[in-house]
Amino acid sequence: MSKQVFIPRDSLNQALERLSSKMNVWVPAASGSNKCGSEFVPYRPDLIPLLNRQTTTPPKAVVFPQVETLLSYEYTKDPDNPSRVKIQLDDTSAGSPTLIFGARPCDARGFLLFDQVFTRGPFTDKYYRDRRENSYFATLVCLEWDSACFCSSVGSGPTDMEGSDLRVTPLKDGYLVEALNERAEPILSLMEGDVPTDAQQQDARKLQEEASRQRVGNVDLTRSATDFKGRFEDKAYWRAMVSQCLSCGVCTFVCPTCYCFSITDEMQGLKGERLRSWDSCMFFQYTLEASGHNPRPTRFERYRNRVGHKFSFIPEKYNGMIGCCGCGRCIRSCPVSIDIRRVVENLKENACVCA
Ligand code: SF4
Ligand code: SF4
Repeated sequence: MSKQVFIPRDSLNQALERLSSKMNVWVPAASGSNKCGSEFVPYRPDLIPLLNRQTTTPPKAVVFPQVETLLSYEYTKDPDNPSRVKIQLDDTSAGSPTLIFGARPCDARGFLLFDQVFTRGPFTDKYYRDRRENSYFATLVCLEWDSACFCSSVGSGPTDMEGSDLRVTPLKDGYLVEALNERAEPILSLMEGDVPTDAQQQDARKLQEEASRQRVGNVDLTRSATDFKGRFEDKAYWRAMVSQCLSCGVCTFVCPTCYCFSITDEMQGLKGERLRSWDSCMFFQYTLEASGHNPRPTRFERYRNRVGHKFSFIPEKYNGMIGCCGCGRCIRSCPVSIDIRRVVENLKENACVCA
């Protein structure tokens, strides 16, 4: 079986169509009539996959839905003893084969942190695990980045394929798609692409080599854990850096590595559902305790926690893994232009914190 195929540009939709008859396929596309935003959506033949720029939101929701039913339940009266009520639970989790085509290295890398949190103990989240095990990432060699991107600053880069199953190299007339592991090989067969010519293979290699030499982001944020601790009590620093934060939570919702959630029960009559929904550590209510006490009552404390989580607590807990993939989405989407690179870079002692 060939481990790589060439898909001519004008045949991409046919290849995706063939795939979508066998599995769920998600592609990046413009969001509805909003020509500025883009997101991952289930493939439809009338869609034009948007492969030349990063999406506004990552494919996080494909594996970790914004709202999902964890279980449903129903109370029934025991006919033999009406004073007793029985409860019936259904907690079947779903996981059917799903391809995320046209992800970027930062999109796929975001799930490496999710894997640590949800599948590597002490508990396994079966809802996440079942979807994740059935998910395949066909990741683009990233050739288009902007001034907000900084994947190289956090130890990744435009050709990083960690967490990906297929590499998609955009060429002049189409895409060279390669299986990076055995489980991805049947996907290549389903695409029914052409056997790549020697010239196409050479072009792809050249392009990959060129992209791998690019440095995206001009700072090194991989060793910020100690700097964070040194600045933790420096309230003046945090106020100066993030005083304009609105606590809107957008930075967390667009982030491929943010996984805060809440669980609520929604009941109608004697039936109900337990739902998991995305939440945000940037919200006042997120840490509000039933007593009325809130350990992070101010916006700067919440932002400090977000930075500490990504650049200090996670690296310490997971062998140096940074809790940020450098996608830059929080920078692009923040309504008051807070730049997490600047906040982390300036953690260093004596760094200038002037606005
Ligand atoms: S913190 Fe910002 S740059 Fe880092 S992964 Fe999240 S959205 Fe991307
Ligand atoms: S997007 Fe900006 S303003 Fe909104 S919570 Fe995040 S840092 Fe604060």
